[in-house]
Amino acid sequence: MRAIEDIYGQLNKPRKVVITMHQKPDADAMGSALGLYHFLQQLGHTCTVISPTNWADWLKWMPGCNGVIDFEYSPEKANPVLDQAEWLFCLDFNVLSRTRFMANKIRKMTCEKILIDHHQQPERESFTYGVSDTGKSSTSEMVYDLILGSGHADKINVDIASCLYAGVMTDTGSFRFPAASASVHRMVATLKDTGFNHTRIHENLFDNFLENRLRFFGYVLQNKMEIYYEHNAALIAIPWKDLVRFEIKTGDTEGLVNYPLTIQGIKMAALIIDRDEEVKCSFRSKGDFDVNTFARRYFEGGGHFNAAGGRSSDTLEQTVQRFIQAIKENSSQLQ
Ligand code: 5GP
Ligand code: MN
Repeated sequence: MRAIEDIYGQLNKPRKVVITMHQKPDADAMGSALGLYHFLQQLGHTCTVISPTNWADWLKWMPGCNGVIDFEYSPEKANPVLDQAEWLFCLDFNVLSRTRFMANKIRKMTCEKILIDHHQQPERESFTYGVSDTGKSSTSEMVYDLILGSGHADKINVDIASCLYAGVMTDTGSFRFPAASASVHRMVATLKDTGFNHTRIHENLFDNFLENRLRFFGYVLQNKMEIYYEHNAALIAIPWKDLVRFEIKTGDTEGLVNYPLTIQGIKMAALIIDRDEEVKCSFRSKGDFDVNTFARRYFEGGGHFNAAGGRSSDTLEQTVQRFIQAIKENSSQLQ
């Protein structure tokens, strides 16, 4: 993988560009992709954002989101665009398997692939150019770096700013995590100068759910949360039937894994959900417990030091038992 700076000199030559991100994109994946889209459009590129799967309704306010193609739902639209692409930007993931059913397609594509990502252990050989920096708060911050680094600060408009703000704000836990550095705050100040309404963005992202989602949170916190005080760990395990009963949609479980971390002394929280097609795991930690390594070792996953995910092909019950065994094995690191 060559340095991202090597494409700066080529940015002024219009190309057919596709931008993609990880499956079930969150606000950073969608925000960085659309921020980059609005930037490249201004430079004269023909740009399309293709998501590997569908995305949460609470992302649909983002400028440009209406034009995003869902690869899983509309392959007949996505495939011809991918076949024509000269550049494929890969944002907010670093292993092709994170694009689910799109991974095979990407592997076969011969165009130049450009990585912009902040997760650990990138699959470097899959990309022609790129930047991988785990020190960055968000992929949205890295898109901002690209815009400034390539000498195009004047292109930052209110659409770009809204998208990038949503990404950096959510990936820093509303500017709470250590990655919310002084330069992140300086970037936000520059974005804010375009005049976007940050209050509105917070409302769009956090006050935009349906009643069933809040009732579901109440139900699972009451009935499905187990605390393992001896290991300073907590688990919420949710069977498929509860997702059906509460009519839970893509994005509705976002944020749930953080609740057990609000309990005094809890250093690690897990959310294990039977999504019918697979059992999906989310891990969050505070301080020096590395959930990236934990997810990699036990649950075919990865991510960041304090936020990671994975999956299991066992049943929910077997996965829960494996999790309990895993926290026992890691008990000393959790003290
Ligand atoms: P979440 O728990 O919100 O799904 O994911 C937490 C973090 O871990 C995100 O940055 C996400 O991109 C990453 N992540 C989630 N699932 C996986 C996975 O299966 N593999 C890898 N490598 N990263 C993941
Ligand atoms: Mn991210």
